Amino acid sequence: MAGEPGEAMAHSAFDTILVLDFGSQYTHLITRRLRELNVFSEMLPCTQKLSELKFTPKGIILSGGPYSVYEEGSPHVDPAVFDLNVPILGICYGMQELAYRLNPENVIAGTHREYGHAMLKARSIDNHVDRLFDGIEGSMRVWMSHGDKLAKLPEGFHTIATSDNSEYAAIGHENKPIYGLQFHPEVTHTQNGTALLKNFAVGICGCKQEWTMQKFLEEAIAQIRHTVGEKGQVLAAVSGGVDSTVAAKLMKEAIGSRFWAVLVNNGVMRLNECEQVQRDLSEALGINLTVVDASQRFLDGLKGIEDPEKKRKFIGGKFIDIFEEEAIKIEEAAANDPTKAGKIEFFMQGTLYPDVIESLSFKGPSATIKTHHNVGGLPARMANGQGLKLIEPLRSLYKDEVRALGRALGIPEELVMRHPFPGPGIAVRILGEVTPEKVEIARQADHIFISEIRKAGIYDQISQAYAAVDPSRAVGVMGDKRVYGYIVVLRAVTTTDFMTAEAYNFPWDFLQRVMNRIVNEVHGVCRVVYDITSKPPGTIELE
Ligand code: GLN
Repeated sequence: MAGEPGEAMAHSAFDTILVLDFGSQYTHLITRRLRELNVFSEMLPCTQKLSELKFTPKGIILSGGPYSVYEEGSPHVDPAVFDLNVPILGICYGMQELAYRLNPENVIAGTHREYGHAMLKARSIDNHVDRLFDGIEGSMRVWMSHGDKLAKLPEGFHTIATSDNSEYAAIGHENKPIYGLQFHPEVTHTQNGTALLKNFAVGICGCKQEWTMQKFLEEAIAQIRHTVGEKGQVLAAVSGGVDSTVAAKLMKEAIGSRFWAVLVNNGVMRLNECEQVQRDLSEALGINLTVVDASQRFLDGLKGIEDPEKKRKFIGGKFIDIFEEEAIKIEEAAANDPTKAGKIEFFMQGTLYPDVIESLSFKGPSATIKTHHNVGGLPARMANGQGLKLIEPLRSLYKDEVRALGRALGIPEELVMRHPFPGPGIAVRILGEVTPEKVEIARQADHIFISEIRKAGIYDQISQAYAAVDPSRAVGVMGDKRVYGYIVVLRAVTTTDFMTAEAYNFPWDFLQRVMNRIVNEVHGVCRVVYDITSKPPGTIELE
């Protein structure tokens, strides 16, 4: 499909394991584990019609899920999976689904639920274990999470591993490569789980372990050139964040200055950030970058807005207006540039795989906690496909893969490891109304905090850190004089997926040092507090 070069490319260039999602909270871990094995894997909802699939997978994994296969309304896989003649592995609900299809009486509610560890032993037949357990000796600890179970062995299958509680902890078809596991090999609590997935993907499905960012890079460049053509030009908004920087550098490598990046200064960027991004992207990485200073327009418009959602919406909307104004100028310039010639036909976005998964999720999109402001949002004519065509070269990558791709592109480590920064900038780090005075305080305090974090050598241990401004003021005493100043809130969290997070455990003297510098160096502040709230219930940003 046009406009999805990353995705189309990954299928055509790499052996793919398709994971069909039945709604388990661990499904995405299956995809992650396979990719860690350098096997490309993609996840689609369990309702996917196989006739609409644009590629042939080398194997299919049916995930776990919260439903019971025998209940009315429970999801079932397209029976065409069995006609593809590729190996199939069912995990928990996925195994129950395989058994249920053969005979609905094969699956029943168990007498007791089984959550947590179990000891598994692979069964030897004629002195060797099934090839799914190749290289795995003795018993292993596995992680179970189920209430239903197989009542009997489905026809044509045999038991390949047992546990104390599950007679059918792992089953395999007698003459077809179809397997079922009652436990979850994708969670780290399962010993040898990755080895099992490898035996399936590599040993049984025959996938080549070629999914590396170096190879992806070569393929992506070829694919972008193919999609964009000899003369086509591409426009994008960049923020200086990891995703847009990596995507921009990739475009630059593929089509040089026919790629146009626009950075909008929205007035709520961090201290010296605009200049820094300009240096990094334009000077160091050679990206064709235009910087638009719209800070005054944003700050004027933010006056009087206190509600967090209204702030986010205002910034997102204004961003699109300004980006669109600039886009028109660039499109005119590009069309009149005889050295480049082609018209701007494409709009590039640094969308990542988790966003793609979220929008495809079988469970439907989760409740809106906050309005997300992806770089640029989407101007209407770029989203509806009538004007610019969308190109999303990172759409099949996870965040750590984007970082690895950044390294493969020669982007400096400091940029590759940058903490995420929200689109609405420090506007959501100032509680209530945003004023130039509070922006200045947030900037100065944040700069001190982050510099101290870098100096202490702990930046990479922290996933995200910032200083925010609480506009309620507190009384203090400075130089024997009563002061009435703002409260600065420090926040630093560790997380692997940004879905849950914990406050970073700073040494006490570190916090003291930061407090000391902030109250002394930032005018208008007389208190500093450290936010120790985890997520949930807190979010990472304050608003
Ligand atoms: N809901 C099913 C059960 O309880 C499957 C659970 C799962 O896939 N983890 O057995």
